[in-house]
Formats: sequence, structure tokens, C-alpha cells
Amino acid sequence: MLLRSLASTGKLLRHKPIPSLARQLSSTHREIPALTKERYPVQRGQFAEVTDGDIAKFESILGGSRVLTQSEDIQGFNIDYLGSVRGYSRVVLKPKSNGEVAEIMKFCNERRLAVCPQGGNTGLVGGSVPVFDEVVLSLQLMDKIEQIDEYSGILVCQAGCVLGTLEEKANEKGLVMPLDLGAKGSCHIGGNVSTNAGGLRLVRYGNLHGSVLGVEAVTAEGCIMDLMSNFKKDNTGYHLKHLFIGSEGTLGIITRLSIFCPTASKSVNVAFLGLESFDAVRSTFLAAKRGLGEILSSCEMIDALSLEASTTHFNLQSPIEKYPFYMLIETSGSNMTHDEEK
Ligand SMILES: Cc1cc2nc3c(=O)[nH]c(=O)nc-3n(C[C@H](O)[C@H](O)[C@H](O)COP(=O)(O)OP(=O)(O)OC[C@H]3O[C@@H](n4cnc5c(N)ncnc54)[C@H](O)[C@@H]3O)c2cc1C
Repeated sequence: MLLRSLASTGKLLRHKPIPSLARQLSSTHREIPALTKERYPVQRGQFAEVTDGDIAKFESILGGSRVLTQSEDIQGFNIDYLGSVRGYSRVVLKPKSNGEVAEIMKFCNERRLAVCPQGGNTGLVGGSVPVFDEVVLSLQLMDKIEQIDEYSGILVCQAGCVLGTLEEKANEKGLVMPLDLGAKGSCHIGGNVSTNAGGLRLVRYGNLHGSVLGVEAVTAEGCIMDLMSNFKKDNTGYHLKHLFIGSEGTLGIITRLSIFCPTASKSVNVAFLGLESFDAVRSTFLAAKRGLGEILSSCEMIDALSLEASTTHFNLQSPIEKYPFYMLIETSGSNMTHDEEK
């Protein structure tokens, strides 16, 4: 009865799922930050610098149009999402296949050129952009969805697929992606796996170590590692894919993966609550887990300062009056009547 009983107190609002904030954010801040090397005491490693000969080699692998060298084309790849750090790479590469990634990595390794893999560049800790002049390897064009099997729920795709696009395609087959986050309009599934992103549905579907069934990755030497599996109940041998989940590009570049997508829920409800204290947040969380059980799909806390920062920045109005804490609770079930009873 949690949702309904709170609704009757007037502190609850039911509404559609939150839209992605990513695009809104990216259009509102575009001041050019200081170079990372000038702002922090960082030391460049013993790497070579990119020469015109290297650019010519990259063009021979990718063709001219997928090798960016003009400063106006490159700037966005050098600055992170929050506009807090900036590198000074002179080249961005956009491969389309694992073979091209392997060739690039092999060459960069032989030449001792440092490489920064980049997904949707929505990371909030500066890891997606070069610190110095690393070659940026963007996965943007590796966006093919190879297979979505509605029977097994397994989706196989290249690493540069945007999470929101995968969500739409999975929905068409009656499935849902096991993770959801505010940056889904821009972040890549390869970036999500590389950062072991948690997101809003973790409480329901667990983290990516459970959902990702296999990965394909290219190592720094240019070796393609096939760690793919299309089998959820795979208990054979070692599962080296786990090393790549959360490795943030340090072990190699994820080029392809398979992921388990649960069945989409027919009935989704969202409640936004205002609470008087952190203790009330804790007890509401417990009540939600106990009372909503298997239909609880998301449970997030927001403090007053954070809500105020968002409403002020985005010129929005909070749907309910002022409280020190707020909670967003989502339920996803298969039967509206049953869910509403809860
Ligand atoms: C509005 C908003 C909400 C967010 N919410 C959450 C959240 O709920 N939970 C959460 O965990 N994060 C969240 N984030 C942070 C960010 O979106 C995630 O970390 C996301 O997974 C990054 O994906 P990306 O494709 O943008 O990767 P990038 O930002 O491009 O890269 C992140 C890191 O992964 C590496 N990388 C990217 N792609 C690959 C690849 N194919 N192979 C190897 N390495 C690669 C990069 O080198 C970098 O180190 C949020 C960000 C925003 C802006």
C-alpha cells in the first residue's frame, strides 16, 4: 500500500519517467576550461608525439574522413562533459570495425603513441578525454546492433551504440535494458561497461557483472580478444570478461558485447516523495523493499540542495513543496491492479 497511502497524504506525485538530462546539460555549459596539465601537477609519460607521418598512416587505415585533425572538429573530444578538464590531442580517430581498432592499436603501440578511448564523453571524472596529447579513439561510428533475441532476451551490439537507442530497440521486442541513467541519450554501452555504470535500475537488475554475458576487446598490442558468449547459464571455464567491466580502457578497448535484457514491465509507476529527515528516508527505503518487493525497480534519494541546484539551473519547478529530503521510487510489474494494490 506504500504508493497509494503516500498519495493520499498529498506528498506524492505520479508522473512519466524522467527525461534524459544529458542533452540539456551539454547545451548549457561550453566555457573552455584551462588545460589539465596547467591546472594539475601531472607529468606526461615517455610517449612519442603524433607526426604528419602518423596522420598519414591513420588515413591509410581509416580514409581521410574518419581522421579528424582540424581544431574546431577536435575541440569537443578534448573537453569533458562538465567542462572541467581539457587535453590537447591533435587527432581523433573514428574506426568502424574491430579490425580497424586492432590496426590502430598495433601501430600506436609500435610508435609508443598514447591512446584515449572515448565513448559518449559523458563521464563525470575526466577519464574520457586526453590529459595531454593522446590520440583520441572515438567509438562513435561503431554503433551496429547485430541481434536482439526476444526469446532469450540477449542483445549483441558494437560498443558505440547509444544506451537510449538500445533501450528503444529493446522495447520494440518487449525487452528493457538492465541499466538506465540520466546520460542515456549520449552515453555508449561500451562506456557503460568500461565504467561499470550503476544507474537507476541497479536495485532491480544488479550491476553489469551480472547482465553482460560477453565482450570483445582489442588490447594495446592490437590483439582481438573474443570473450563473447550468448549464453546466460554459461558456467564453462574462466570469465575474463569481468576484467574489462569497470576497467575504463586500461586493459583494452571494448569493441562489441552481448548483454541480457529482462522482459519489459507492462505497468510502471513513479512516486516522488518529500521527507522530513534522513531517518525517514531510511525507513521509507526499507518499507519500499519490504512492501513493494519484486516490483520495486528504482529507489533514489535527493537532498534539498541538489534539488534546488537542478530546479534553478534548468529553470524547473519542484512538483512538491519544500522538504529537506526527497525520494523517487519506481515500480515495474506485470499487472497494474496488483501493483496499485501494493
Ligand atoms: C546526467 C548524467 C547522469 C549520470 N548518471 C550516472 C549513473 O547513474 N551511474 C553511473 O555510473 N554513471 C552516471 N553518469 C556518468 C557517465 O554517464 C557514465 O560513467 C557512463 O557509463 C559513461 O559512458 P560514456 O560512453 O559516456 O563513456 P565516456 O565518458 O566516453 O568514457 C568513460 C571512461 O570509459 C572509457 N571508455 C569509453 N568507451 C570505452 C570502450 N569502448 N572501451 C574501453 N574504454 C572505454 C573512457 O576512456 C573513460 O575512461 C552520469 C552522467 C551524466 C552526465
